[in-house]
Amino acid sequence: MSKIELRNITHVYESGGEETVAVRDVNLTLEEGTSNALIGPSGCGKTTLLNIISGLLTPTEGKVLIDGEDVTELSPQDRDIAQVFQFPVVYDSMSVFGNLAFPLRNRDVPESEIEERVQETAELLGLDDRLDANPGNFGPEWSQLVSLGRGIIRHDTTALLFDEPMTDVDPGRKLTLRRRISQAQNRLKVTSLYVTHDQHEALTFASKAAVMNKGQIVQYGPPEKLYDEPVSTFVGNFIGSPGMNFIDCEIEENGLKIGEFDVAIPGNLGDVLDPGWSDLQLGVRPNLVDLSENREKESQIPARVTLTEHLGSYQIITLELTNLDTEIKAELPLEKRTAEGEEMFVEFDPENIRMFHNGEAVENGKK
Ligand code: ATP
Repeated sequence: MSKIELRNITHVYESGGEETVAVRDVNLTLEEGTSNALIGPSGCGKTTLLNIISGLLTPTEGKVLIDGEDVTELSPQDRDIAQVFQFPVVYDSMSVFGNLAFPLRNRDVPESEIEERVQETAELLGLDDRLDANPGNFGPEWSQLVSLGRGIIRHDTTALLFDEPMTDVDPGRKLTLRRRISQAQNRLKVTSLYVTHDQHEALTFASKAAVMNKGQIVQYGPPEKLYDEPVSTFVGNFIGSPGMNFIDCEIEENGLKIGEFDVAIPGNLGDVLDPGWSDLQLGVRPNLVDLSENREKESQIPARVTLTEHLGSYQIITLELTNLDTEIKAELPLEKRTAEGEEMFVEFDPENIRMFHNGEAVENGKK
């Protein structure tokens, strides 16, 4: 296990006379033994960045350091990084045992030690009763485990990189594979980076996630921090399902307003919000919207339910804020009966809102 540092990484693809800047000035440190995820919409540069870490690509600019050593020009083999790809790479001509033993045999490890290490790895990944079988005969989740096993069987693996390993796996089998990957990571404490566009997958695997957009890392932190304190409307919208609600508002002399309605300002932002600002938005998570059936205060905004969606153990309702041309989503328990067309009253607790100016979170003392 190792510490991985990316310093000012930029990567530009050139094809047919056209340039695409896939990764732009990325700085990121993955601490030794941690599990990390890289998430972002399609085309934001995730695979490019992963391939730069593994050594499959040399960046146009910047440096990759492993334990402080500059490995930017080293091949994947010389970095001792194991990579699990979207589609499993297994040798159909060999048994599961042969596949797992392959990297050790390549390094002339004695057969007695190979036997022991294969057994240990197979047990960790739940492959021990399949060692004699051909991996081509199982579903893709088993092939991915074999492929992962080949990566972790060497004790000198510096890092484990996953590139959308669930792509080919049946929805019903994903949970099992995810659990096995997590168990292996927890036991071995190998520095890992898991690339996906599925935030749920990422956030259950990783202790920290980096959110990418248009070639840049826009936020890196623990899942709960990304959820509770997104640094921008992009992150607020990308993390969470549905994402954060954003509502246009204004600062007036006597406070914060949504249309004609007063909204209490979050305590720590009293001196920060500037009446001169335009493009100011209030952000609130759907589970933190306060709703009532009766209007008890002037600050409650009338709204109409336009859609109700039952999602298993809870429901999401869409509300149109009356006269404000704004829709928001709110999460409610199933037992709360709501009907489309019904009038409700919306309120925002200053403790539960976050303000955004020009798309960026307004923090204490700075915009
Ligand atoms: P996805 O989630 O769809 O796999 P991604 O986030 O992994 O996407 P990349 O595959 O890294 O994104 O691509 C980043 C950008 O670089 C995209 O605009 C893509 O079209 C472009 N790109 C990727 N590979 C090449 C290539 N070999 N030649 C030219 N452009 C490329």
